[in-house]
Amino acid sequence: SKVLVSGANGYIAAWLVRTLLEEGYIVRGTVRTEEKAKFLKKLFEKYADKFEAVVVSDITSDGAFDEAVKGMDAIEHTASPFHFNADDPQELIGPAVKGTTGILQSALKFGKDVKRIVVTSSCASVLEIRPEPTKFSEEDWNELSAKEVQEQGRSAAAASKYRASKTLAERAAWDFYNKHKSEISWDLVVINPPFVFGPSIQDVSSPSALGTSAADWYATVVEGTKDANAPGPGLAGTEWVDVRDVAKAHVRALQRKEAADQRIIVSAGPWKWQEWLDTANSLKPSPIPSHPNLPKGKPGSSDKKYMTTYDASKSGRVLGIVSGPEGAGLGLDGEKVRYRTMEETTRDTLADVEAKGW
Ligand code: NDP
Repeated sequence: SKVLVSGANGYIAAWLVRTLLEEGYIVRGTVRTEEKAKFLKKLFEKYADKFEAVVVSDITSDGAFDEAVKGMDAIEHTASPFHFNADDPQELIGPAVKGTTGILQSALKFGKDVKRIVVTSSCASVLEIRPEPTKFSEEDWNELSAKEVQEQGRSAAAASKYRASKTLAERAAWDFYNKHKSEISWDLVVINPPFVFGPSIQDVSSPSALGTSAADWYATVVEGTKDANAPGPGLAGTEWVDVRDVAKAHVRALQRKEAADQRIIVSAGPWKWQEWLDTANSLKPSPIPSHPNLPKGKPGSSDKKYMTTYDASKSGRVLGIVSGPEGAGLGLDGEKVRYRTMEETTRDTLADVEAKGW
């Protein structure tokens, strides 16, 4: 079957396209420029007869996806700005919301074969910063960030602007879906990942081109330009997931009937920066011999207490991707699979950096 992937050149989406192709799907990816289309055609040249890249230059313009959705059986909408440099919050909220409602609108009008749409949301639309350690689930919605942005505009915290864009975009997706339920042939699934780490296959010629989450990992675990013990989510403790498992979850979200109408948190488990540092330094032999002195931080100092955690059991029940002790005996292949461990992701990410020659 044929799947449309928006923002196909992104960190997560490139892995998603690859996973779809490996599983036999025909994929059409949208990107913003011809140059990005060219890169992807090269990256997936082995699948030349199964992959095409099309240019959608402005996802906020009316009918932007009208042509792209034609003939597709399913859609994976990943395109959305993810950075912390926006002054005007609308820079993030505009494309996040309009990109989402726009692709749904195009599917409504021209996607007569579309049976399922998967939207990449985020744990950003789930978590709220609370004074006490809190375990969140799909029942939870982040209301605070959008409120902060509404009240403070440009002065809102950078993270709040991004989180607001994800909450508002996901809300808009559910609202659109519920409003048009009687007119559409498809159902909706939303995937909510926390911090995404792991190797990069998209166009990254230098570390500065890494996606926001992978760039943070690189700066902290490899380069040491970011202090692992500086205040932030990586000191307070939050959760993460490997980019390849996020891709897998998006593919399973197309395949599992029970996924219909669900938002699904996909998470491998909790982390603090110090734990990544300790893991990186414990690997023998080192996957990154060109960097014999990886940052050490304060070895062994993580108290393993985490401010923000998630109940990811729905991903086990619905997608068959399992975290925690329940997944411990499972492999990465099979009907039921487990999330990659911190050690696996660390090893593969360091090996990727080594291979890139950075
Ligand atoms: P990337 O920045 O690598 O990818 C983002 C994609 O969206 C790119 O294809 C990018 O295109 C496109 N995009 C960004 N802004 C616009 C815009 N204004 N108009 C059109 N396209 C745009 O990020 P990720 O792969 O990490 O993110 C993919 C999705 O996953 C996003 O929805 C993000 O919110 C979500 N997510 C990411 C997490 C993470 O830790 N990485 C965690 C949870 C959710 P271009 O290259 O042309 O800019």
